Amino acid sequence: MKKVVKFGGSSLASAEQFKKVGDIIHADESRRYVVPSAPGKRFSEDTKVTDMLYGCYETAEKGKSFGDLLEKIKERYNEIIKGLGLELSLEEEFKIIEKQFKEKAGKDYAASRGEYLNGIIMANYLGYEFIDSAEVIFFKEDGGFDADLTNDVLGKRLSTVERAVIPGFYGAFQDGRVKTFSRGGSDITGSIVAKAVSADMYENWTDVSGFLVADPRIIHNPETITTITYKELRELAYMGATVLHEDAIFPVRKAGIPINIKNTNKPEDEGTMIVESTCRQSKYTITGIAGKKGFVSINIEKAMMNSEIGFGRRVLEAFEKHGISFEHVPSGIDTMTVYVHQPEFEDKEQQVLADIHRMTDPDHIEVETDLALIAVVGRGMRSTRGTAGRIFSALAHANVNVKMIDQGSSELNIIIGVKNNDFEKAIKAIYDIFVLVQI
Ligand code: ASP
Repeated sequence: MKKVVKFGGSSLASAEQFKKVGDIIHADESRRYVVPSAPGKRFSEDTKVTDMLYGCYETAEKGKSFGDLLEKIKERYNEIIKGLGLELSLEEEFKIIEKQFKEKAGKDYAASRGEYLNGIIMANYLGYEFIDSAEVIFFKEDGGFDADLTNDVLGKRLSTVERAVIPGFYGAFQDGRVKTFSRGGSDITGSIVAKAVSADMYENWTDVSGFLVADPRIIHNPETITTITYKELRELAYMGATVLHEDAIFPVRKAGIPINIKNTNKPEDEGTMIVESTCRQSKYTITGIAGKKGFVSINIEKAMMNSEIGFGRRVLEAFEKHGISFEHVPSGIDTMTVYVHQPEFEDKEQQVLADIHRMTDPDHIEVETDLALIAVVGRGMRSTRGTAGRIFSALAHANVNVKMIDQGSSELNIIIGVKNNDFEKAIKAIYDIFVLVQI
């Protein structure tokens, strides 16, 4: 058994957290490859080391003195080293970092030092080998991740190493220049490492016990999702459920490696298992509910629209021309409605409407703002009758007016459009009918 374990910033924010991580790793000897993030927040008003590094480098780039800021970062690490009782000094590393900052080594280099230094501490603490990600994770010149080269080099390197720490979040171009993934990118590193070593499992340790059926800011103490498929996760993540970086699923998904989201502060909790497919039914027909506010609908009416070939294409072209992506396009016989993100649309509103007029000559266009979209997702829907009926009767009882309904042909999700101010009420009603009442 071979596991890759990734620990997020809050799991490594202090010596106390490091000790929990050490216990978790030692509790299972198949936890052989460790991917750490940079130290995160110790308390809610705290600053993540990654943000401290960005701030410090920005000051350095302006040619201002940044010594005090770098000193504060050093203190964060020294506190961890001291708390763990390690005989380790990062003095030399900080001298190099200071020099590189003066020479303007770049924002990515600066941010990557958070994971790099934490990786050195972690390797020292565990007695594992430290492997600098800049030597084994590669980017192409256009900035995209080089999956083939990485898999080759990283796979070969790790095949000779029994246990190692590989810092998250960064890699390098072939000439050695450091580049980071987008924020939260250590999740991606974990997935890349899992694929390279053909791991049996990718454990992603964070500060929650997995994905929740609904947003805890809306539902008090929601249930945890025990098993979710990659497809379901894509739908929920797209609609705002964030625990894992969106791109982190691709490397392991291709290799058929499951991801287990676990809680460092409650290791006994099962967490959420993310899998390609499963025969395990979700407990409540639906797997999860997620949603977003801030959409606009543009409703276009034209008599005999249904027989006008190319009408839909011309409408969408008007959006494409202005770089606006559409979310949903429900249509009737003589109407077509396009849902788009309000902030994307607002600035270009009049140009888009003028183009629709010019390109399609409609009878009438109506714009409705402040709409929210809710996705009710579940692989169980396909084999259960009456799911849609339950959703809409729950919404009717809660006095929520449904503006739009869209059921994907995969029967994996139902998307519902409501007014922004009905958003929370609608999510509560759907959660209650499936999870609490379970009728
Ligand atoms: N430290 C980086 C960030 O804060 C990457 C990560 O933690 O995954 O975004």
